[in-house]
Amino acid sequence: ASIVGTNVWGLSTRMLGFFEQLGILSGALELIVRPHEIPDPPGRPNLTVSEGAIRFEEVRFAHPGNGAVFDGLSFAIRPGERVALVGPSGAGKSTLVRLLRRQFPVEDGRILIDGQDIATVSLASLNRAVAEVPQLPSLFHRSIRDNIAYGSEGAGDDAIRAAAARAHCDRFIDGRAAGYDTVVGERGLQLSGGERQRVAIARAFLKDAPVLVLDEATSSLDSETEHLIQDALLGLFEGRTVIAIAHRLSTVTGMDRILYMEKGRILEDGDHATLLRRDGPYARLWRRQVGGFLPDDAGAVSDTEE
Ligand code: ADP
Ligand code: MG
Repeated sequence: ASIVGTNVWGLSTRMLGFFEQLGILSGALELIVRPHEIPDPPGRPNLTVSEGAIRFEEVRFAHPGNGAVFDGLSFAIRPGERVALVGPSGAGKSTLVRLLRRQFPVEDGRILIDGQDIATVSLASLNRAVAEVPQLPSLFHRSIRDNIAYGSEGAGDDAIRAAAARAHCDRFIDGRAAGYDTVVGERGLQLSGGERQRVAIARAFLKDAPVLVLDEATSSLDSETEHLIQDALLGLFEGRTVIAIAHRLSTVTGMDRILYMEKGRILEDGDHATLLRRDGPYARLWRRQVGGFLPDDAGAVSDTEE
């Protein structure tokens, strides 16, 4: 597992990787290496999601030792809405997603899913409700089958194969001699970036969570892989509430709504065409697009200090 950071026991990822190599900790490893997750007191109610509405209410958050990232952030996302988070590096996009997954506690304000404060429900139920496709998916030193089933333990073989097919993984899996038993990850078969992304998408299909968070890859892939991933994502978005940290032009233009952020604040909120007509910071960012991507490395492009 190449998850960055330390866990509640203060063990570094490098140390855990060492233990994993020795074959110690095996199954328990996945439970303890998730960094920064806030442990659950027993007896918490489960989150029950019927619609997938998300609401941030006056959320305040600062990373330890830093100034506030969010100081009164509020917005609402309707059930089934597909929302792109766009903005320069440091705007708070990743932090927003991590707060929604309760990887950090909010200092003030509330985050609600279908009216339930996520701070008060069991973490397991929150994790079941929210699937994540990370920017650089890490694979465990396990079979491709187990990697797809991660988070959906107990899933049957048919369901795993169906998820793989919908994520366009089936061709590269069937192309390996050992098929779904092919061992991947550290010391196993190294999958390409595009293959890893599709495994992560298959994982999300199998998990079938009502809310999906996606941190889109910023690196170019060959155009066929690109097309397969876009197609798989379109299927995955269907019927879910989606928050995507979006960099690809094709993704941002296809979303229902764009939240343009800078310095922890939402400066613009609307669909692509609307924001282009406004001719504000989103439109300025859009005009600087290169190679099919929105830039994310140039600092704030807005000169408004509201
Ligand atoms: P984005 O994803 O839009 O690039 P981030 O959410 O990563 O923005 O960062 C928002 C702010 O929080 C930045 O000022 C960044 O430096 C800071 N930050 C992000 N992660 C951490 C962290 N783990 N510790 C301290 N500061 C952080
Ligand atoms: Mg980020």
